[in-house]
Amino acid sequence: MTPPGDYTATRKFGDAAVTIISEGSMSWAPKFVAPEAEWRRAVPEAGADGAFTIGLNLAHIRIGNASILVDPGLDDPDSAWQRRFAARWPGVRRSPGLEHALAALGIRAGEVTHVCITHAHGDHFGGVTLEREGRDVARFPRARHLIGRADWARNPAREDRGSELAGRLGIVEGLGLLDLVDDEREIVPGATIIPAPGETPGHTIVRVHSAGEAFYYVGDLFHLPCEVEHHDWIPAGRDQAAMRASRGRLVADAVPERATLVFTHERFPAWGRIVRDPGGYRWERAW
Ligand SMILES: [Zn+2]
Repeated sequence: MTPPGDYTATRKFGDAAVTIISEGSMSWAPKFVAPEAEWRRAVPEAGADGAFTIGLNLAHIRIGNASILVDPGLDDPDSAWQRRFAARWPGVRRSPGLEHALAALGIRAGEVTHVCITHAHGDHFGGVTLEREGRDVARFPRARHLIGRADWARNPAREDRGSELAGRLGIVEGLGLLDLVDDEREIVPGATIIPAPGETPGHTIVRVHSAGEAFYYVGDLFHLPCEVEHHDWIPAGRDQAAMRASRGRLVADAVPERATLVFTHERFPAWGRIVRDPGGYRWERAW
């Protein structure tokens, strides 16, 4: 049995406790809109096809009476969903998964008060439901589920009844648990969901402020450390201008606060900071 310390890591930020939970790792070829020789220098582990291993980190935030999960990740490692996911992402390797992590942390799914979904990509929201006895059921039946409006209301995948979005997130909506986010919104005092479009039109990030300390879970606003140095290194298919603008806004807020940040696909445990450099900014791991 994998000890919980191998895939969960907790830190305090003021009165808030943040736990990073690794769902495992996967292989990804980002197809950066950037000069290939340059990004390959920054990511020397990339293979001939441009693919390399990335992490898959979720966050649980305990603040006041709230129990907030940011990105519900994937279904269980032994689920049929996982077998379909692995067929699409052949390099995926799973940790024991979110269910085991929550049990090890003493958190019952029914106690989770909020689930923030940074964006509507399957590796971030797939675990919003679980397969139980042949059907999908809401995993956090008492939680308000928050997602950027554009990723739900204006997402063409909603029209496809066979899509994961329609199937999985549709169950949550059908139970009346889905809240659509338009603007920066306080979830509970000290925790805020903030629009940061680019990866998708409705992409959001989550900020924790407590007793003078700051933490941000930034989802896919940055995927890799080298993107912090090069804000214009953005995978193909994203809204390049929106993503650069969202990155600029985050950096302007997080750097002066000396905030700790986590992005989903950094290597576990993923803690880091954005620091000023003579040429701009760089990522500094803090683990
Ligand atoms: Zn992602």
